[in-house]
Amino acid sequence: MVHTTAGGPEEDTTAAAAADPALLTAELARAWDALVATARRTVTDGLVVGTSGNVSVRVGDTVLVTPSGVPYDRLAPEDALGVDLNGTRVLGTLKPTSELPMHLAVYRATDAAAVVHTHAVHATAASTLVTEVPSIHYMTAALGGPARVAPYALYGTEELAANMLRALRDRTGCLLQNHGTVAYGATLDQAYDRTAQLEWMCRVWLTASALPDRSPSLLTAEQVEAAGNQLRGYGQQDR
Ligand code: 13P
Ligand code: ZN
Repeated sequence: MVHTTAGGPEEDTTAAAAADPALLTAELARAWDALVATARRTVTDGLVVGTSGNVSVRVGDTVLVTPSGVPYDRLAPEDALGVDLNGTRVLGTLKPTSELPMHLAVYRATDAAAVVHTHAVHATAASTLVTEVPSIHYMTAALGGPARVAPYALYGTEELAANMLRALRDRTGCLLQNHGTVAYGATLDQAYDRTAQLEWMCRVWLTASALPDRSPSLLTAEQVEAAGNQLRGYGQQDR
């Protein structure tokens, strides 16, 4: 798989960029702009408050990441920050997100090109109540099945990254107990959309669970699987 774009249509520029440093710089600059736009969107859409959460995007062997504790509206092109897959900084001067272990674990284990971590309200609330998000809606299938909840571990630790990776098996998103969400995708837009769907599903489940003496109907594994098969043909297939 080609890790070249940050949200737009896929184009194979990696080989050309490797041969020409100026091209690589331009590609990284475009990817940084897209990463900052996605990070800002997590705040404006209410998935994150302040400097909570973090975003990364992979360009070849470089992973661009948000810096730790810097408000996203202050990030400028010259703040571009990149690490290699071992976490060694290869671009920029700022300190990378404290959740670098989680982001790198996803890139090492999957074909992800983008990762989004948030503290979205309903997902975080749900993470304190269950070990798996109940199948309240067919969009469960869009994440590969019911999202698991990774057991709590201190933020920024390898332990949290390992718990997350187990929860992500055969899934593209999960919850972190008493913490938030992680989702990945082939583009920043896809990782963001999966995050938003996960938060929305947790909100639906919490809303339906809120009535006294009533509990919501849930979908069977077969119903979720059928939805997954149908979703493979969803939308405009020829674009
Ligand atoms: P950073 O500001 O270091 O990315 O940390 C935010 C966060 O969500 C930690 O879990
Ligand atoms: Zn966090």
